[in-house]
Amino acid sequence: MSKFIRLGVIGGGQLGSLLCTAAKKLKVETIVLSDDKDGPAQKFCDHFIYSKYENNEKLKEFISKVDVVTYEFENIPFNFLNLIEKEKKVLPYPKINKIAQNRKLEKTFVNKLGINTTNWVYIKSAEDIKKNQQLLPGILKSNTLGYDGKGQFVINSLDDVKQNWCFTSDYILEKKVNLKKEISVVIARYIDGTLSYYEPIENVHKDQILYKSKIPADISDKIFKDAINNAKKIAENFSYIGVLTVEFFITENDELLVNEIAPRFHNSGHLTIEAFNISQFENHIRAVCDLGSKPIKKISNAEMYNVLGFEIQDFKKKAFKKNEFFHDYLKKEPRAGRKMGHLTIFKD
Ligand code: ADP
Ligand code: MG
Repeated sequence: MSKFIRLGVIGGGQLGSLLCTAAKKLKVETIVLSDDKDGPAQKFCDHFIYSKYENNEKLKEFISKVDVVTYEFENIPFNFLNLIEKEKKVLPYPKINKIAQNRKLEKTFVNKLGINTTNWVYIKSAEDIKKNQQLLPGILKSNTLGYDGKGQFVINSLDDVKQNWCFTSDYILEKKVNLKKEISVVIARYIDGTLSYYEPIENVHKDQILYKSKIPADISDKIFKDAINNAKKIAENFSYIGVLTVEFFITENDELLVNEIAPRFHNSGHLTIEAFNISQFENHIRAVCDLGSKPIKKISNAEMYNVLGFEIQDFKKKAFKKNEFFHDYLKKEPRAGRKMGHLTIFKD
């Protein structure tokens, strides 16, 4: 089979790298556009273009080299995606990305579908927090550009709200919930409307960064079904094409709440690389390149651990067993809390 589709990928981090690796198997050519000249995906893609995300010669080169464009992270300026969409297909659709990168729009969308989230309000000033004391203890989250817990502040009481706070951006305040568990559902939707989804994945966070994911998730049949149905509903209402991830909270009272939507493959889905016949990355490429869906089959139960910061130095030296799969993202510099690699372990 010769290479017949050229897939443009915006973003050169580990998700882009893992996507490019999956593309090799499908004989899809990958062209990565990254604003980080050290972006690790350059070691995994076919062509790497380093450029700011703006209208320039490099963007023209990128557009000329690709048939379809996707992205590995959601915080891309909407206008930039729109500009590309005028010339080449961009999937998932930029209008969906616009919603998913804005917590207010995202939660409004989910609530309108009749799906529960934490109680929340939009916040533009310290005064707005005072008017919504019923949400304390709560978490103030920057409305846009947050990830791995960045831009989040716990507000236990009004004492934590400083008089002189000057809001330079907008926020949402959401009630802090007592979490029993967190799960995610990774779902692919194809151009013909076919849905292909994985069983819910159970996630453990440390310091708001994903620490561990596992299947099967230890949840009731009802939560299992409701989580899948919510993910299907969201994908269908977006007329989504590609892989989408829905993060859920399960509260102490067994309520299922949507936490957030990622319009992409997800860290919690990394175990699909080995634990299923078709990974989340392969599913995404198949959907956006219109290669057709294939039935998903589980190969093994599994656990995935993120390798953060300087932990990578020990992992690089380690010998792994037959049931262990280590992925080194080949990032130039370890930094505390930075995702450097991951390890998936098959479990019975
Ligand atoms: P990010 O965009 O950084 O992933 P999230 O909103 O998913 O932000 O928050 C990161 C993590 O912080 C969640 O996975 C959860 O563990 C914790 N968290 C966030 N919001 C709440 C909340 N309202 N109540 C309890 N824990 C929360
Ligand atoms: Mg999250």
